[in-house]
Amino acid sequence: MDLFDKFAALTTQYASIVEAGADPFGVCMDDIRSATEAVVGGQDVILAGTNNYLGLTFDPACIRAAQETLSRAGTGTTGSRIANGTYSAHRLLEQELADFFACTSAMVFPTGYQANLGIISGLAGPEDYILIDAHCHASIYDGCRLSGATVIRFRHNSPADLDQRLSRLGGGDTNKLVIVEGLYSMFGDIAPVDEFAAVKNKHGAYLCVDEAHSVGVYGDTGRGVAEAANASADVDFIVGTFSKSLGSIGGFCVSSHPKFDLLRLASRPYMFTASLSPANVASVRTALQQIRIRPELRRNLWQNAAALHSGLSDLGFSLGAGVSPIIAVQMPSREAAVDFWNRLFRKGVYVNLALPPGTPNSSSLLRCSVLAAHRPDQIEQIRRAFEEVGIETGIIDKSQPARLAQAAQ
Ligand code: PMP
Repeated sequence: MDLFDKFAALTTQYASIVEAGADPFGVCMDDIRSATEAVVGGQDVILAGTNNYLGLTFDPACIRAAQETLSRAGTGTTGSRIANGTYSAHRLLEQELADFFACTSAMVFPTGYQANLGIISGLAGPEDYILIDAHCHASIYDGCRLSGATVIRFRHNSPADLDQRLSRLGGGDTNKLVIVEGLYSMFGDIAPVDEFAAVKNKHGAYLCVDEAHSVGVYGDTGRGVAEAANASADVDFIVGTFSKSLGSIGGFCVSSHPKFDLLRLASRPYMFTASLSPANVASVRTALQQIRIRPELRRNLWQNAAALHSGLSDLGFSLGAGVSPIIAVQMPSREAAVDFWNRLFRKGVYVNLALPPGTPNSSSLLRCSVLAAHRPDQIEQIRRAFEEVGIETGIIDKSQPARLAQAAQ
């Protein structure tokens, strides 16, 4: 017996993927040149598979803020928030996040993954129920596990199914926490947050929305899908990350619950890990300002998203959802997806390969993410690469694009 025996099936599957060409799960950016360009294996690639929606990783103001703070405050805090790891800048960032979301409190974490672990396991315990959308991210599942609560999955984006399951639980004296995401990262579809809020109000439950992919992208002020749906007032907790539109690393939760700050003394993933480095905090604070003062970033992003979405759908590709910065191109099989990914890569276009079991409905996907920083010629280069590979592989037919792609599903 070997501890690693349990990975036999995984080893075989991985070997078959790597045999087809480059290793899609071992891509190494040798040189990152901008938000949209990198060198991988000696080759120039356009980045169409990051989560850098607003392109802020290379924003001069964010970089300057991080550099100045690095010199002034050092490279790390070397301690947790409840020991030596709270600097005034952590508190300021929390205040600014609370203000940004028009909430009373905010907590920051070293990653978005940990924000979900910390908030879910802090809020819910073995006596409580958590109801989660079936398509929720792994960090939400893991947070549920850590909480020890009874977990009930409801059908993806179905307020009716949630309503039924909450009805079955009955009124009683139990706490019920409902968790959905704003924008789902695999298909690029959004949750009907207003409808979920109505259901949670009907049953006296709490609602937590993970806006990891939607902050800075949706809503008049960039607060996310709940804001776009006019439902912010009915959302009890918003979780998010700094590793996407905010171009850094870290996670957060905002809330107006009067006792929210108790979690600082009860949430193990908050208490027992070192706090965000000062330079990270500085770049995130500046990125939040950029979202506030540069609405054109969001406009560019949506223009680019619309252009790539219509370009790919006109070619006949089957796409996961309507226009959003996440465009999921559905492939007919796992093998076709791996082959297509390699061909795109050789043409200098990097997208995310997403395969089952990590995808909903066992889909094999090429997940493209569109950035505000993409130039029109880069969007066209991505579209053209898809067209060329689509024809090479027979997944689209130039003469009858739309019909053939549907047949390939
Ligand atoms: N929530 C969702 C919905 C996510 O997609 C992700 C990351 N992809 C996370 C949380 C975790 O964020 P982080 O990368 O900051 O840990």
